[in-house]
Amino acid sequence: MLKKVILCVIDSFHPQVLAECFSRGWVPALQFLRDEGYYHNDCVSVFPTMTPTAAAAISTGRHSDMHRVPGFIWYDEANKRIVNYGATPMAIYRVGVRTVLEELIYNLNLKHLNSKTPTVFETLSKHGISTGCINFFIYRGTKEYRTKIPITMQLLSKFNWQYQTIYGPDQLVLGKVVCPDWLDPAGAPAAPWNKYGINDLFTGYVLKEMVRQNKLPQFTLAYFPDTDAMAHDHGPLDTHKSIRRVDKQIAAILDLYENWHKALDELAFIIVGDHSQTLIGRNRNHLINLQSMLSKFKQLRLGSVLTDEELVISPNERMAILNFPEDKIKDDVVKRLVKDYRITQIIWKEADEYRVLKGGTGQKLSFRPGGSYWDRSGMNWTWSGDLGILDYRTQGRQLIDRDYPDAFYRIKTAMDGSPRGVLLSALPGYEFRGEHAPLHPGGGSHGSLHKKDSVVPLIIAGLEKDIPNPRITSFVPYILAYLTCQVQRQHIF
Ligand SMILES: [Zn+2]
Repeated sequence: MLKKVILCVIDSFHPQVLAECFSRGWVPALQFLRDEGYYHNDCVSVFPTMTPTAAAAISTGRHSDMHRVPGFIWYDEANKRIVNYGATPMAIYRVGVRTVLEELIYNLNLKHLNSKTPTVFETLSKHGISTGCINFFIYRGTKEYRTKIPITMQLLSKFNWQYQTIYGPDQLVLGKVVCPDWLDPAGAPAAPWNKYGINDLFTGYVLKEMVRQNKLPQFTLAYFPDTDAMAHDHGPLDTHKSIRRVDKQIAAILDLYENWHKALDELAFIIVGDHSQTLIGRNRNHLINLQSMLSKFKQLRLGSVLTDEELVISPNERMAILNFPEDKIKDDVVKRLVKDYRITQIIWKEADEYRVLKGGTGQKLSFRPGGSYWDRSGMNWTWSGDLGILDYRTQGRQLIDRDYPDAFYRIKTAMDGSPRGVLLSALPGYEFRGEHAPLHPGGGSHGSLHKKDSVVPLIIAGLEKDIPNPRITSFVPYILAYLTCQVQRQHIF
């Protein structure tokens, strides 16, 4: 029988926290799914390890070279302005509530996300398979929805933004903003201080109601956002409470069946993180102040359109994207940054070659696709310089990655997604400070290429096949293969 597939994404899901929860017996539902299926503690995210980029990768199965969402904060070359999906309250104040809402609810899916790169919802619907999405950032589909902007949001946007037409899967729930008639929004917290329902309890409630009311589509993507905030505030290793709460939501779904094994006769679960987090030090030195380091250059401000500025800084926590409207200052900027040991990789592209410099030492590495070396995914590369910058070692012609999983491929795809930029990745314990960037001294942060930000747990249950060597881009082809093969088989027989 064709099972219904539920993909749960837990923001900032940390492999060590899950392992501790398992060993203390704190997450019985996740433990049951693990024991009945497959479990990995090293599923690799994309670069940068930021939610919009990773969410687009999960929904499309592609990296930012294809899906075109290069970060949380990034420079939109076509419109000569900085896109910021609402990183801080000050950023929201600066550009206005309406712009942030428009950016997040409308532009992210309908303008920024590459229209030529289909989402899993679009592809499955072409095959006649029903799809659903609960609170996930990237939901582009074929069905038209009208957003209902809650009154307090309307007040904040000065009644400037009351509704918008968006396109989503067969079942789309975005807190109170998009809420179907069959769902009672009073069933879970959805007040303004509960982010209008964009929270774990609401997501769990909707998923449970979908199962209970027989509304669950063949494929559903459900997003649990709360662990991210807890990791930012308390540090990535202090998020057990949040993971236990997600576990309760999943247990409540399994409990709808006669027993948990019966649930797995009808449902399949894939549970994964989008990225992980790293603990940030408490000293001022742990914040790399790009604005002041590069104060010599005229910088574009958030909310302004480029005129004569020379430099655009897009801080993405432990990663940053620099753009140069005119190329001439690029070398000068790189020269200044390379003196700083806190910037472990300074990355750019020249012709078809990717260049990497290590801050503090000036060690160099360049690489390009094709050639006689291969990495763990079997991709071939040519390289020259110091492989240690990306912590690769060689075994014959094989490239073994350690601290920076899939470094060559993740750099290549991120770089091709921002081809004229310079990308920076920070040393563990450090993050970039820039205009309207959130800061987390003593808390958690992410964005970098390092494995501490990049590796997430994965549980697959109710499906026959495992995903060997999993990446967050693996689920779209995996789900398609399962659901479309099954459909074809049913047609044949
Ligand atoms: Zn975060």
